[in-house]
Amino acid sequence: MSGGYAQPLVYFFGQGRADGTAAMKDVLGGKGAGLAEMTQIGIPVPPGFTIASSLCLTYLESHQFPPRLRTEVETALNRLEAVTGKQFGGATQPLLVSVRSGAAVSMPGMMETILNLGLNDETVAALARLSGNDQFAWDSYRRFVQMYGSVVYDLPKKGFDAFLEQRKVAAGVEQDIDLPVDQMRSLVADYKGLIESQVGHPFPEEPLEQLWGAIAAVFESWNTRRAIDYRRLHDIPDTMGTAVNVVSMVYGNLGSDSGTGVAFTRNPSTGEHAIYGEFLLNAQGEDVVAGIRTPVEIRQLREALPEASSELERVARLLERHFRDVQDMEFTIERGKLYMLQTRRGQRSGPAAVRIAVEMVDEGLITKEEAITRIPASDLDQLLHPTIDTSSRLDLLATGLPASPGAASGVVTFDADRAESRGKNGEAVILVRRETSPEDFHGMVAARAVLTARGGMTSHAAVVARGMGKPCVAGATSLDVDEGAGRFSADGRVVSEGDWITVDGASGRVYAGKAALKQPELSDNFRRLMSWADRVRRLQVRCNADTPADAHRGREFGAEGIGLCRTEHMFFEGGRLAAMREMIVATDVEGRNRALARLLPMQRADFEAIFRAMDGLPVCIRLLDPPLHEFLPKEGPELDALAQEMNLEPARLRRIVTGLTEVNPMLGLRGCRLGILYPEITAMQARAIFEAAGIVAADGVRVLPEVMIPLIGNVVEFRKQALVVQQVAADVFGEKQITVPFSLGTMIELPRAALTADSIALEAQFFSFGTNDLTQTAWGLSRDDAGRILPLYLEQGVIEADPFQVLDRVGVGKLMELGVQLGRRTRPDLKVGICGEHGGEPASVAFCDELGMNYVSCSPFRVPIARLAAAQSALTNRGSVDRTRATV
Ligand code: ADP
Ligand code: MG
Ligand code: MG
Repeated sequence: MSGGYAQPLVYFFGQGRADGTAAMKDVLGGKGAGLAEMTQIGIPVPPGFTIASSLCLTYLESHQFPPRLRTEVETALNRLEAVTGKQFGGATQPLLVSVRSGAAVSMPGMMETILNLGLNDETVAALARLSGNDQFAWDSYRRFVQMYGSVVYDLPKKGFDAFLEQRKVAAGVEQDIDLPVDQMRSLVADYKGLIESQVGHPFPEEPLEQLWGAIAAVFESWNTRRAIDYRRLHDIPDTMGTAVNVVSMVYGNLGSDSGTGVAFTRNPSTGEHAIYGEFLLNAQGEDVVAGIRTPVEIRQLREALPEASSELERVARLLERHFRDVQDMEFTIERGKLYMLQTRRGQRSGPAAVRIAVEMVDEGLITKEEAITRIPASDLDQLLHPTIDTSSRLDLLATGLPASPGAASGVVTFDADRAESRGKNGEAVILVRRETSPEDFHGMVAARAVLTARGGMTSHAAVVARGMGKPCVAGATSLDVDEGAGRFSADGRVVSEGDWITVDGASGRVYAGKAALKQPELSDNFRRLMSWADRVRRLQVRCNADTPADAHRGREFGAEGIGLCRTEHMFFEGGRLAAMREMIVATDVEGRNRALARLLPMQRADFEAIFRAMDGLPVCIRLLDPPLHEFLPKEGPELDALAQEMNLEPARLRRIVTGLTEVNPMLGLRGCRLGILYPEITAMQARAIFEAAGIVAADGVRVLPEVMIPLIGNVVEFRKQALVVQQVAADVFGEKQITVPFSLGTMIELPRAALTADSIALEAQFFSFGTNDLTQTAWGLSRDDAGRILPLYLEQGVIEADPFQVLDRVGVGKLMELGVQLGRRTRPDLKVGICGEHGGEPASVAFCDELGMNYVSCSPFRVPIARLAAAQSALTNRGSVDRTRATV
């Protein structure tokens, strides 16, 4: 304890010297550390001192100030008087101060700043005399008494505002600042009367008493409801505490040669290298953001106060060079002279982050590696999709989950078929459903965006939309969707089929009508940043693509192959569904083979197109995976129609469909189990793959197929399917007199596969972790039902993150680690990747990198995010990974 005691409690700054530095955020808080550092580097900052944040908890425990603090504060005040040549409470040259909160991390809900502290009936007269400006002195006084009353005594602002309004009406003025002096005087009296009547004692005239009251209030504000909630939400320790900054006042309200403002050293939404901000003349404190008067763009400061303006430019450059990052600054101009009151790292949009980082590299301010590590990888999302132009007029209808980013406008359609036909006519449609199912797939393909009333972030709609890079808002629970009647209502408003709406999948908001959108553009800056990232990353990045269009897009975004090509989506399209259904309901091998023969050319054409699109890059094709009933209609009338189409007795068809029903289809007849029961399906798919490969290879395309067998739990399952595939390959290559090199591997998506990975790797040439299913099966929790459980779990703190979104390192991750280790034990050059939704989530990408995997695969739109995340992981975990990595 005594060691801690030796630390000073109060840190002075002024006249170019400071006890603290920028590195002392933990002690001084962000604001205090910034003030100290700015002082040290010669930037004009009004002198002051900071009380260490450690005092906060001490005070909150005892509600008393330790004697040593009293002494140190008084010493600092004396010093402040000496450097300013003013006296605290003095009747000739009164020193006034501001009292400001400031923790190590910036936090809403803390105490608002009190300005002009030290004023009383005596000092106000001195201030008036000194400045020769009564108006200014009384404006400062009325502000102070009001702030003290509402901040320290917690009195509602309304009471003060009522008096202010009365006075303004009486004087016939619009702006607070124009109140005549006598009205200001009366206002101060009004305020003091209000305070006395509410708190039971008179307003403290003694400046020291005012100061200690304000310091106590800063500490107390650490425990306001809002501050506590914020800390809970952001995992900020309660023990951190806030510092208190006491800063000598500079005055922006001295007239039209004075003012106050806020500025960024660069534009935070575009990244443009020019000061960006706003100011007000003859104003104080946060008038600029308070919305009482309309602030002026910072450019105009050049005309209004040219010297202060160029000084601000100089300071901005200096601060940027010093902190090597964009700064968000607060300043005040007193009679033409600039003072800085705060600086901190400027928050910025995704596009701005990219532009700023790249330009700072060009300016020699930061290294390429720093540029890579500075940009939150998921912010790249904002560069790849259209976004809502938030400066346009928006009419909010409902809010749901931000399930897939991007924004789109279109006419509401409640039915997948209609969405498809309207879409084919070139109409922009938005598919609105209570929830979607695989049967809606073609409608989703045709739609610009998808909106559902039910389902979570991993519902069918969300997963499929993300895969397609389409905006999606899921689980908009306020929507009451009546698909039959062709309308939905939201909070009493009704939207009918054909009405325009706009869906913003990045925020989860749904707007009525057509909102203005901003199109994304892949800037040169973006390309350069990505090329730097590519140079440092160890992981390869592939895309999940089921169609040639997705494959092209993935390549455009830098994918180095396809990590997952799902074959089943192809079966939902057009005439294929009929052939597929025929295959499913076939009762014998001949019937099945007839239907398969119809499917073969369609599959072959699909693969051909994808191979051509991925010329020179590997394409990993997963054999049929989903339970068959997904392809069959569920409702009676639809079943009857199908029966007629297929020339079958309706009763017979219904029996067949009933026979296919499973209690838990996700754990039933699917994946390799289908292929083991019906090897002819596997054979058809293998034939389609190899014939397509042969055709494109003959055209000079470099084709690198990887055949992936899903849902393996035991090596024998793999062996049986592998034999079928190898036999077909030999047949096709013999028939066509052409050989195409291919590899044969498996998904690892069942715990048993991970646990027996050593024996599976004896036969499988590659592994791809299917982390969606692996998460389902490791947790024993169906993804489709998780939406009801996980939000509750999150709320109650049972889990920290949704394992379907952020890879569960501890549990699922352990299975993956085992899988990689065991697999490489028997096959050292085993190629390992991931193809679940997690492949594009930055923290999960880092985990895959740490495990020494070869690649991650994600939806095309997430490829740049994965590239950047992989580079960041390579830079932060440099050399810490022992990788026996195969060359891909
Ligand atoms: P916040 O944390 O809400 O930004 P600050 O402590 O930064 O609060 O204070 C808000 C504003 O009050 C500052 O931006 C500045 O304009 C004004 N202010 C604070 N201290 C002083 C001072 N000593 N002199 C003049 N203005 C001040
Ligand atoms: Mg503020
Ligand atoms: Mg501030």
